[in-house]
Amino acid sequence: MYQHRLIKQTSSTSSELFQAAVGKVVCVGRNYADHAAELNNAVPREPVLFIKPASATACFSEGIGLSPALLNELRAIEAGAEQPKGLTDLHYEAELALLIGENLAVGSTAKACLQAIAGIGLGLDLTLRSLQQQLKQQALPWEKAKAFDGSCLLTDFIIPQNLPALDALRFQLKVDNELRQTGDTALMLFPIVDLLPYICRWFSLQAGDVILTGTPKGVGCLKAGQTLSLCLPSISGSGLLAHTFVREQSTI
Ligand code: ZN
Repeated sequence: MYQHRLIKQTSSTSSELFQAAVGKVVCVGRNYADHAAELNNAVPREPVLFIKPASATACFSEGIGLSPALLNELRAIEAGAEQPKGLTDLHYEAELALLIGENLAVGSTAKACLQAIAGIGLGLDLTLRSLQQQLKQQALPWEKAKAFDGSCLLTDFIIPQNLPALDALRFQLKVDNELRQTGDTALMLFPIVDLLPYICRWFSLQAGDVILTGTPKGVGCLKAGQTLSLCLPSISGSGLLAHTFVREQSTI
């Protein structure tokens, strides 16, 4: 079972187990204008929020793939459809992830929220894109397309003191060594300092919860056998560089 891990030393990549159990993941949709445009979504006036449960979390470096049971479910839906809709097109979305280290009540201030960040890491918000489009068209919730087991892949987290300021963090996703996504927190529509207190207007946060802060443009479909690399440079240490692969059964 996945558990959060924290890198405490600037110069080291060795991590230790985080003290709190894995909680919920609060995800932010459409937080970069260029990604909203690539999916023909309007730029929102307020953050778009949704939640993945703890059961959706998994370790990034252990591989990407749908469970055999979920694949069978999707194939059965597809087989019964008059016009197959490609329900298994599994998209990656690379995102900066914040690990919450202290409980935050509803109404917590921006200062309290920022002090509660125990670690900064990277994650993939996996999305069954065709299924999500269908659910959106029917004005139904997205959970089947975004909150399934293994849909939130997380790297280790670095303590914030070892990183550039929260509004100057850059990260990258490469697929088969080709640069696909570049994120820069300076380009967020809702920066972290505003995002956290906004989230706390609606939900309390507990130690072990994670915030996925939204994806920049460049999302795309995964194919079996691909190798993915996520990179978050630190100030003076080696930062985060994590690799994974797409398992064979992940596509049809
Ligand atoms: Zn996302």
